[in-house]
Amino acid sequence: MSRNPHYDILFEPIQIGPVTAPNRFYQTPHATGMGNMKPNSSAALRGIKAEGGWGVVCTEYCSIHPSADESPYAFLTLWDDEDAAQLALTADAIHAHGSLAGIELWHGGFHATNRETREISLSPDHCCNEFVQPTQVRAMEKQDIGNFREWHRTAAIRAMNAGFDIVYVYAGHEYLPFQFLSPRFNHRNDEYGGSLENRMRLLRELIEDTKKAVGQKCAVAVRLAVDELHGEAGITSTGEGRQIVQALAELPDLWDLALGGSLGNDSCSSRFSNEGYQEQYASFVKQVSSKPVVSVGRFTSPDTMVGQIKRGMQDFIGAARPSIADPFLPNKIKTGREDEIRECIGCNICRSANNEGVPLRCTQNPTMGEEWRRGWHPQKIQSAHKEANILVVGGGPAGLEATLALAQRGYQVTLAEARDELGGRVIHETSLPGLQSWIRVRDYRKHLISQMDNVEVYLNSPLCKSDIEEFDADQIVIATGSQWRRDGLGSNLRKSLEIPATNNIFTPDDIFNGAEIEGDILIYDDDHYFMAGALAEKFLLAGHQVTYLSPSMTISNWTAMTNEQAFIQSRLLSLGIQTAFGQTLLNVEKTRLTTQCSYSGQKTNHPFDNLLLVTSRQSSATLFEQLNQKNVTRIGDSLVPSNIADAVYSGHKFAREFGEDPASIKPKRERSLVQD
Ligand code: ADP
Ligand code: SF4
Repeated sequence: MSRNPHYDILFEPIQIGPVTAPNRFYQTPHATGMGNMKPNSSAALRGIKAEGGWGVVCTEYCSIHPSADESPYAFLTLWDDEDAAQLALTADAIHAHGSLAGIELWHGGFHATNRETREISLSPDHCCNEFVQPTQVRAMEKQDIGNFREWHRTAAIRAMNAGFDIVYVYAGHEYLPFQFLSPRFNHRNDEYGGSLENRMRLLRELIEDTKKAVGQKCAVAVRLAVDELHGEAGITSTGEGRQIVQALAELPDLWDLALGGSLGNDSCSSRFSNEGYQEQYASFVKQVSSKPVVSVGRFTSPDTMVGQIKRGMQDFIGAARPSIADPFLPNKIKTGREDEIRECIGCNICRSANNEGVPLRCTQNPTMGEEWRRGWHPQKIQSAHKEANILVVGGGPAGLEATLALAQRGYQVTLAEARDELGGRVIHETSLPGLQSWIRVRDYRKHLISQMDNVEVYLNSPLCKSDIEEFDADQIVIATGSQWRRDGLGSNLRKSLEIPATNNIFTPDDIFNGAEIEGDILIYDDDHYFMAGALAEKFLLAGHQVTYLSPSMTISNWTAMTNEQAFIQSRLLSLGIQTAFGQTLLNVEKTRLTTQCSYSGQKTNHPFDNLLLVTSRQSSATLFEQLNQKNVTRIGDSLVPSNIADAVYSGHKFAREFGEDPASIKPKRERSLVQD
């Protein structure tokens, strides 16, 4: 298919200092949870992005010195030439597809706790570590600043020698150069503190040092947090953020703009931001600098991208998450297949991987992070070795993904769904405040499936054992999902309770199935992901009084991993939610719930009009157990309830592995070589 000429502008080459990007698609630095321990995995992941058409592909944060050690989290290092040799794998993988390779040189300052290297943490001032630790951070003396500049210069040269085309000076996300910039962190009274000019001194020096060291061959990019969302107390895009860019306007070869403060600001989830949400902060830069500008905003719509360029907001389309969800986004636009873009849903499960210290994963793209380990490619899948007729029961994320991937392999697939529409759990979840874009999980797969000749979809088809046996498929895939439990069993309460069968006690399924609730609502959350908080928000917005009880000490505790927890708690508090934390369920009566304090053991009675139990889910296993045949497999939540990403992954994995020799699907492992 041919490209829509309206999108031609996205494929113009753009010069960045001494190098030229083949198009305007720019994968900004993003964490992979792989770091220097998984060089092959990192290289394969970045190589796939370049293959998919991203004209610039950057690494994640790359430490320049052992005093910037984020262990046990995964990060890159350029501490010596061996590190550089390892990173050359990534640069080569990116170059293999004609893209430019960027590297984000990093020093975390008070963010780096140096747990492994046991170096003393450094920052502009004496202060505490960002992550609470029984240790503090030393203020940098002049000698330290000189050393830091030298480490940065040496790392830049190593990066150039490793083959990188764009070298970053990283003054974003509250890391060391930004700590010097921000009046929130820099209270020095020498020439590196006080006035903005002084606070900017180090950044200016770093740019100059880097240009001098590698500027003949490499572009020097500055990643700057133009606003840290702390109002007048910090850098703002209308105040000092603007003044910094004005003062240094022509010094770097490229401006890469970000938001500061917590990482949740910059990679804000769709629950709290829309596509293009950073425009209001970043758009001024093109007015004050002639250098190319890139910024992010979860861009997945080619029309919005064209609008960004034509309206003069930026020169590149910056993307981290959209490139994770669809590494082939640029090539799909290039070849007129924009309807096949696997759009990021903004759920931030990718952020959770890094926060939990494991390799990247994505709700929409099950191949993300598996490029080297399993050899999975986002656009290619091996053909079936022999024909088979496969019946998939259940059209939620797992069933849809299995259907699509099996059909792509060439199998004849029949998908039966009990309801009158596809989507399973996402139909419900997408109805919650802020989660509308989650429906993309369904829509992407539904659209592709609808174009395939070897798939038949039957709605309104709740299959039972005899229906399935009658169908006589070669393989049966059970993807019937799960139900929320009504017996209180959850993360903290490890046994079921006797709960009265009254009509004022609900689970999320009851709410989604249309239960009418009048009066106040008590929510007990022992699930800790988004569900209880999102339902609380729905009811608060509808005017109910809501009290939230949980064994945790925060609302939707696990969402700290998706960088959403603080946003959720702020929003719910602003809507008037009442809370009681550290409370584990003990007993439920018709209009009264009793909890026990996790710390004091004290029991408390909580009278209620309505009780909503959000604790855990139970697999829908009946069909699977009834069938009890060799050619029956369970996938997704019907195998084990989890998040949507795991359901999609489960469906995809089954499809990839079906009919394959077990020896050929064994994942590879990265191992360290023993050195002297
Ligand atoms: P997952 O996340 O694992 O895909 P979901 O709960 O989202 O699970 O989806 C399960 C889907 O299976 C739902 O759409 C549900 O209507 C459907 N389903 C459940 N039981 C049957 C059945 N017996 N026959 C057909 N479809 C079913
Ligand atoms: Fe987007 Fe979610 Fe995938 Fe992250 S995990 S890239 S937010 S779809």
